[in-house]
Amino acid sequence: VLEVVGLRKAFGDQVALDGIDFTVNESEVVAILGPSGSGKSTLVRCVDLLEPVDGGAMYLDGHLLGFETHRGHLRPMSDADIQRQRRRMGMVFQQFNLFPHWTVLRNITEAPIRVHKVPAAQARARAMELLERVGLADKAQAHPRQLSGGQQQRVAIARAVAANPRILLFDEPTSSLDPELVNEVLQVMKDLATTGMTMVVVTHEMEFARNVADRCVFMADGYVIEDRPAQEFFRSPRSTRLQSFLQRTS
Ligand code: ATP
Ligand code: MG
Repeated sequence: VLEVVGLRKAFGDQVALDGIDFTVNESEVVAILGPSGSGKSTLVRCVDLLEPVDGGAMYLDGHLLGFETHRGHLRPMSDADIQRQRRRMGMVFQQFNLFPHWTVLRNITEAPIRVHKVPAAQARARAMELLERVGLADKAQAHPRQLSGGQQQRVAIARAVAANPRILLFDEPTSSLDPELVNEVLQVMKDLATTGMTMVVVTHEMEFARNVADRCVFMADGYVIEDRPAQEFFRSPRSTRLQSFLQRTS
């Protein structure tokens, strides 16, 4: 589904991604772990076309992301084309980013109706189905501020799924939640994984990475240090950096 090749990104002279290669296959759940500042957020933001990249290439279903060929040369896509590609991906942020003045239902149906031109009744029916799934059908008419952080994040996930993305990207979806609200969100993500959704999850939740992810990627200093099936990743880390990271966090 997703292929990232030699991705490079710098902020001024601060190199955030120093040649990242990784792929995500259909229905795979990939956890991205690593210390603060290792480039995890930058990676998912580049994939979601929120940051311009400095080198390398990314493909979604074989289509080059962010660039197009023009007279035999590559050039950056127009903003409209970038938006079109972004619609095929879903992103869930640490801060849920719901629109505060809209009901939960409208937060979910707005993009399908306005952008994807889904008939309103159909978009609402689908939104209710998704709210049911995340256990919030009774909150359809509530506003985000009336919900707990965990409930808001579950709405944000329902909203991302409503656009039928090819891949869902999560950047620390539980990091801003009170500890007692973390599990309800992880449970929704786990449930999503069993439906075959392709997911990339930046997280510090080791239990989730170990039990739900198919593969774990360990990043440090803008590099992928280790990329292995989840069980091996935890059982027999190869690099000393990952070994000490796992010792510190578990
Ligand atoms: P954390 O676990 O703290 O979220 P991270 O792995 O997500 O860390 P990034 O946010 O991707 O790390 O940052 C990678 C590097 O890029 C860091 O050195 C950071 O300071 C730098 N960086 C990230 N965003 C910007 C920005 N907008 N401007 C300048 N530097 C940035
Ligand atoms: Mg981050």
